[in-house]
Formats: sequence, C-alpha cells, structure tokens
Amino acid sequence: AEPVPAEPHLAEPYMARTLAVLGLSVEYVRAEGDTLYHRDEQGAERAVLDLVGAFGATILGHNDPDVVAHAKAILDARLPVYAQFSLHPYADTVARKLNGILTRELGEAEPYFAVFANSGAEANEIALKHAELDRVTRLAELCGALHENRENARAALVEGTAVLADDAFAVLGVDVHDADHLLKAAELANAESLSAPPVLLALEGSFHGKLVGSVQLTHNPSFRLPFSSLAAQCRFVPADRPEALARIVEGERRTVFDFTLDAGVVGVVERDMPVFCAFVLEPIQGEAGINVLTEETARHIQQVCAAVGCPIVIDEVQSGMGRSGSFFASAGIGLRGDYYTLAKSLGGGVAKAAVTLVRASCYRQDFDLIHSSTYAKDGFSTRIAEKVIDLLETDGGAAYRLATARGEALMTELRAVQAEFPDVVKEVRGKGLMVGLEFHDQSVAAAPALREKADMFGYFAAGYLMRAHAIRIFPTASAVHTLRFEPSVRLTDAAIARTGAALRDLCGVLRAQDAARLLGL
Ligand code: PMP
Repeated sequence: AEPVPAEPHLAEPYMARTLAVLGLSVEYVRAEGDTLYHRDEQGAERAVLDLVGAFGATILGHNDPDVVAHAKAILDARLPVYAQFSLHPYADTVARKLNGILTRELGEAEPYFAVFANSGAEANEIALKHAELDRVTRLAELCGALHENRENARAALVEGTAVLADDAFAVLGVDVHDADHLLKAAELANAESLSAPPVLLALEGSFHGKLVGSVQLTHNPSFRLPFSSLAAQCRFVPADRPEALARIVEGERRTVFDFTLDAGVVGVVERDMPVFCAFVLEPIQGEAGINVLTEETARHIQQVCAAVGCPIVIDEVQSGMGRSGSFFASAGIGLRGDYYTLAKSLGGGVAKAAVTLVRASCYRQDFDLIHSSTYAKDGFSTRIAEKVIDLLETDGGAAYRLATARGEALMTELRAVQAEFPDVVKEVRGKGLMVGLEFHDQSVAAAPALREKADMFGYFAAGYLMRAHAIRIFPTASAVHTLRFEPSVRLTDAAIARTGAALRDLCGVLRAQDAARLLGL
C-alpha cells in the first residue's frame, strides 16, 4: 500500500481509508489496453492487469489508439463541443447506426428514436421519465373518456332516454340504489385509482443506477432503502421464478369504472387502467453476480408485460456494446424492448456518453423539449460514440467474435480452476466478456477472521490479488462472493494464464483458510 498522505483526503475522504484497509490504495498513472500502471515505492512503474475493465466501460481497452487519435482529431479541428439548441447531425448518425444494429440483431423493423445522456443511471431515468410521460398521457386520455361517458350516461338518465342496467349497482358494489349516488361513487372510486403512484417492475438483484429515480430499481437494500421516500417504488420479481411475475402483476392491477350507453341502457363496466410504468431489466445481470437471463424468463416477462401493456426497458448499460458476443446481449435470448439503454463502453473509455433508444411508435414528441441536459449529446462524446460503434462493426463485427472467443478462453481457464478447487469455487458463469466466478459463502468459513469479514469477502480477495499478483479485480456490487471479469476484446492468452495462476494461488489460500495471508495481516 502507498503511504497515507499527510493531508487528509477531501474528495470522498472515507473511500481512501477503505482502500487502505483492503490494500487497494494505488494511484494509476498510465493506462493502455488491459493494463494500468502505478508507481511502486522506488517510483518505478508497476503494471497491473485490469480484469474489471472500468466495470465494463472499456470494451476496446484503456486508451485504444484509434479512439485516442479520433479524440485528438476532434479537439484539433476545434469542433464545437457544446452548442445546445442547434442541429447535431452526428447524433443522428449515431442513432442511425444503432438502429441498423437493432434491425440486424433483433429484427426490429420499427425505428427507435435516440435521447442522449451522460451516464447509465441517467439513460435509465430518461427511459423511466419517458415511460411515465407516456403513462400519464394515456391516463389523461382515459380520464377524459371516463368523464365524457359518465356525463352522457347522466344526461340520458335525467332525460329519461335510458335506464340503468340491472347489474349496475352490483358492479360498483353500492347498496344505495340511486343513479346520482352511483355516478358519484364511480367518480370517487376512479379518482382514487387514477391518483395511484405508478408501479415499476424489476428483477431481484438488478442494478440500474444510483440516482434518485434509478436507485429505486437497484435491488441492493443498502443502496436503495434510505432513498425510498424520494420516488415511486418498484416491485422486485425473483429471476429464477418468473411465474411470480403474473401474481405480482395481478396484485398491482387497477381498474376504473366506465359507463356505457347502448340501446337505452346505461351499463357499468370495469376497465384496466395504465398503472404499470415500466419493467426494467438487464439481459445479463451485472452487479447481481453475472446472471444470464434465460430465454424462457425473457419470453415469460415479455408475455406478461404485453398482456397488461407494460413497456419493457432493456438496460444494456453493462451487457451492451459487444461484450456478450453481439452488440446487444438481448439478441442472444430473444428479448425485445420498447426502450434500450446504453452507456459505459459507448464512450470508448475516454468520454462519458449514454443513450436511451425509444420505440418510435411510443415516442411522445413533447419529450424533446421536456427533457435535456447541458452535457448530453455534446460534440465530443457523441463523435467518440460513433467511432466506437464503427470500430466494433469493422470487418463484419470482428470485435463481437473476439468477445466470444476471448470470453470462452477465459471461461475455460476459470472452469479449470473450479475443477481443481471445487471446495472453494462454487460456479463460473457468464457470456462473452461478462464472466463471474463465485466462491463458496465465507460466512460459514472455518477461519473466524474470514467468517467475520464475509460481507466484504470479494474486496479482500481483490486486495490479495492486487498485492500478490498485480491483478485488478472486484466483486460485483450486490454479490460480494462473485468476482467479475470484464476485460477488453484484446485480452491475451498470457493474461488469461496469469489470471489462472493467481486464482489458483488465491484458492490455495482459501482452502488452507489462511486468513492472515488473505487479509494481509
Ligand atoms: N445499469 C447497469 C446495468 C449498470 O451496470 C450500471 C453501472 N454499474 C448502471 C446502470 C449505472 O451506470 P452509471 O454508473 O454510468 O450511472
């Protein structure tokens, strides 16, 4: 570990302390490909193999030469970076390219409109905001129709041109058999239903960001619960029991009472109202511990959502941009959404870029004026995004084939480690370059020091691999026994072999329950 600075840290002061405890206090001074460099005590550069790849933001590696050259060219040409409220043809180009990929990989015939953002959480919040704008607009239309139908029924009853249907009172459940009372009861019941907050749906374990809106969809209670009063709440569905979705949806369904007027008879009918704002899901859950959604679960979610008119937001922030072996991980499981969100690698590892794609037929044109951000769709990050897409698409998508091949090579090595240490490694799973290695639960470890620290286990494992093997790795945010591997498509065989050797050593330490060695005591 580096010496503790004399001056206290002011930027996230407690993070420095945590990093020190874990043996992760290093300042990286240079980055290239899958390597980060920091200085050792003699001031010499020490190369660290970066297996987390900026948590999935560097599919092409750190400072990819083509991306860097493009970034320099943008700046050298003095292209405007911030010119809001003017035409942005390059943003249109990015949207067009993404549409081409959607058509090729997902068979989407309909266009998707693009709204640009700065981060993954923001892209998801844009999808939520848009879905809610769409819901409240539909709600307002429904409200108008209910009012009109009720007043028509009232007029017909007052004029005596119609009579109430025999079951009218029973449908509403009112005992007082009076038309005015019935109309009022329907209005009151509807007002209550129509003011209900929107229902959001997501899978257990999901991670969709940490801003006020998106954190409600991030399952991890320590990230979410302190902020639950700030926004609409989400119902979490167990990913391994998709049948639970139908039950949850049934429980959340709400209806309103509408009046019909047909052949001189006023009837009361119960109609569904749009209560579901969106189902947000990752095709491969990242922070939950790298869980690939099955085709069956995807199909089930799609059917249930279609039945109740709930839009689907597919969060490809971590799984997208080629990491899974196709540009969209949804392609591999037949998942189709009304919204897709991208971020992380969209910025090529040098810019902050994100985008929300919205199915054209759901798009509310007011949204262009209702939503904006100073930095979104800027001339720098958007042009970088275009370059990254071009680089991924080069040679008929050679990068996607590389992601599959390098991912398989990595997974083969990790599986070999698992086979040698089945008592230590529980499972290896993932797709392409989104791989997780899960250790057996250390909260029941033999060594008391390991049991005590089990809730931070993956971070201590990371500290050990950093100290002993110059490997940078982290657990997933919500499953600390799973280490995540999200390197670039340039991951070499030598790096994979080095990873295998380091993990065998770590597994040996765990098999021996050598807490002192693992924790660096
Ligand atoms: N969605 C997913 C699936 C993510 O993995 C993440 C980040 N880990 C986010 C959203 C949030 O992205 P950001 O950190 O850019 O806000």
